[in-house]
Amino acid sequence: MHGASPRVAIVGGGPAGLMAAEAARAAGVEVDLYDRMGSVGRKFLIAGKGGLNLTHSEPRGAFEARYGARRAEVARWLDAFDADGLRAWARELGVETFVGTSGRVFPRDLKAAPLLRAWLRRLRASGVRFHMRHRWLGWTESGALRFAHDDAALELVADAVVLALGGASWPVLGSDGAWVDTLAGRGVGIAPLAPSNCGFDVAWSEHFAARHAGDPVKPVVLEWTGADGAKQRRQGELVVSSYGIEGSLVYAASAALRDRIAAHGSAAIALDLAPGRDAVVIERELAKPRGHRSLSEHLRRHAGVTGVKAGLLREVLTAEQMTDPKRVAATLKALPLTLLRPRPVKEAISTAGGVRFDAIDDTQMLTHMPGTFCAGEMLDWEAPTGGYLLTACFASGLIAGRNAASWARQQ
Ligand SMILES: Cc1cc2nc3c(=O)[nH]c(=O)nc-3n(C[C@H](O)[C@H](O)[C@H](O)COP(=O)(O)OP(=O)(O)OC[C@H]3O[C@@H](n4cnc5c(N)ncnc54)[C@H](O)[C@@H]3O)c2cc1C
Repeated sequence: MHGASPRVAIVGGGPAGLMAAEAARAAGVEVDLYDRMGSVGRKFLIAGKGGLNLTHSEPRGAFEARYGARRAEVARWLDAFDADGLRAWARELGVETFVGTSGRVFPRDLKAAPLLRAWLRRLRASGVRFHMRHRWLGWTESGALRFAHDDAALELVADAVVLALGGASWPVLGSDGAWVDTLAGRGVGIAPLAPSNCGFDVAWSEHFAARHAGDPVKPVVLEWTGADGAKQRRQGELVVSSYGIEGSLVYAASAALRDRIAAHGSAAIALDLAPGRDAVVIERELAKPRGHRSLSEHLRRHAGVTGVKAGLLREVLTAEQMTDPKRVAATLKALPLTLLRPRPVKEAISTAGGVRFDAIDDTQMLTHMPGTFCAGEMLDWEAPTGGYLLTACFASGLIAGRNAASWARQQ
């Protein structure tokens, strides 16, 4: 042990690292938290721009299922800190939450800053020490932590370490995934980082991209092939971008689409641009005489199709096909698109891949590196948006912090 009190170093001040700091401090050890940025929780604050979806109110079984192949591992985290635990924790910080119509849980004021401010105040008051602009670089030969701080090199020793370095999305907010090489160099098993909750490239014509980039497509049903090969359908909203498609509906399907592209080179999807309307009825309407009206006006009057939806039709049908009511009706109900590749991880909402679960033990300690624990998005799990990301980051941080504290006490 170094000095009288055991000391835990937390590297990374996102939701996972801050929760690890809180849990370790509550367990009675000295806690120092390091982050490469000038302030902590930058991605958490950006998440607040979208209303800060903290967690979800659905039943526990459905909630766990959102973690797919990592369901069992994340369920153990949720045993320690689940959606109700998160809401109670926020309440203790003076932030009431509410359940939105979709079942998603938000702070009443939909903001991240008041919650983060209250949390940091409480962490500081409890004695957690913050060290900003400390970029962690790895370890010295003797096992000390190496940092760069304002151009100076520092070496620091702790009794236990929690790494909560995040993924590689939005690197400008702090998490750049540089830790991958450092840990891989130590023999830690790492699944390659990949975009999750991301957009996809589509080979739009120049005309379509110039005209419709930024246009929302709603309502729309997305049909895709799931991981099990079964067709999935979901209604929602997507946005056309200059390079392809983005938006919450696309993110929901993104893990399966990304994996399909990796396996097959591209992924075929279909869009139902007229949800709830019958192809036969649309066809009948479109078969009515057009007279002197333009095709666009005819489509608007008889199929309710305008703007970006009409643009999408023209993108996949020839001029001649556009005059065939049967063809147009069928395409409106199942407009085929080919997704070429996911957008780069730096643009994604979150990151798949990371430190593999077989590289950590039940306490989240790296089996290759006794005394070093991992938490948050840097571990190899993923989930759709809906509050599942933050919940698992908080929960895994809590467990890593607790276990790091008890390890530190035993040194
Ligand atoms: C635009 C956007 C909106 C989002 N909205 C939501 C939402 O509404 N609900 C939801 O559940 N999730 C949302 N997320 C995802 C959620 O914010 C992340 O999953 C979560 O922040 C990950 O927490 P973390 O603590 O694991 O990592 P991070 O929050 O990424 O924190 C990691 C920290 O480690 C630091 N760090 C990295 N490398 C080093 C190093 N070498 N040395 C020192 N420090 C380092 C970084 O500076 C950073 O502060 C959103 C993400 C984005 C980008």
